[in-house]
Amino acid sequence: MFQDLLSLLFPEVCHACDEPLARGEQYICTECNVRLPYTDLHLFGATELNMLQQRFWGKVPIRYAFSYLHFKPKGRVQRLLHKLKYKGAHELGEHLGRRYGSVLLDHHYAKQFDLILPVPLHRLKLRRRGYNQSDGFAKGLSEAMQVEWSNGVLMRNIDTDTQTKKSRLDRWQNVEKVFEVKLPEKVTGKRVLLVDDVLTTGATLEACAAILLESGCSEVSVVTIAAA
Ligand SMILES: [Zn+2]
Repeated sequence: MFQDLLSLLFPEVCHACDEPLARGEQYICTECNVRLPYTDLHLFGATELNMLQQRFWGKVPIRYAFSYLHFKPKGRVQRLLHKLKYKGAHELGEHLGRRYGSVLLDHHYAKQFDLILPVPLHRLKLRRRGYNQSDGFAKGLSEAMQVEWSNGVLMRNIDTDTQTKKSRLDRWQNVEKVFEVKLPEKVTGKRVLLVDDVLTTGATLEACAAILLESGCSEVSVVTIAAA
């Protein structure tokens, strides 16, 4: 009864539309769940190249490229990402990860990966924000697909987000210095699934994938919550 009273006074709202959630709904309301712009990239055949993979052509070999949602400005997806990044909605990332992870599991992709690694934040940004928004998504994917995940393998030496305001990452001279594999023995011979929140130019994922391949992992796939 106390819970009922609480939810009456402070109704939980949908993270995608800010409308109060109905009983039984979690994080995202039923209408948003139906209307979210899913990419359905997992429906593309394994040998077919999808449009996300093409962004990495001639740069770094990417085995599979998945994104759960299409990014559209001022819509539900932008609201979700904003909450994930700035409103401390860490559990929302896990929720999305579990949902997409079960979709990938249903389509037999879980066996394609040995290790899930979120793209790390620079330590100063991590301290400021308190959490890495990609960790939750990675954890949720890991739970649903029963594939190990770790946020201790990769390290970010340079905060490229602040740098991108001045110059684009792909114009960087020292892209390979942005990330470092702290524990190379963890990735040797592994098929890594690299996780980030949004895919835009792909430069961040590209830099991360390149360093992983240099460190001896056998192949890299990428997955993001949304793709612009
Ligand atoms: Zn909603």
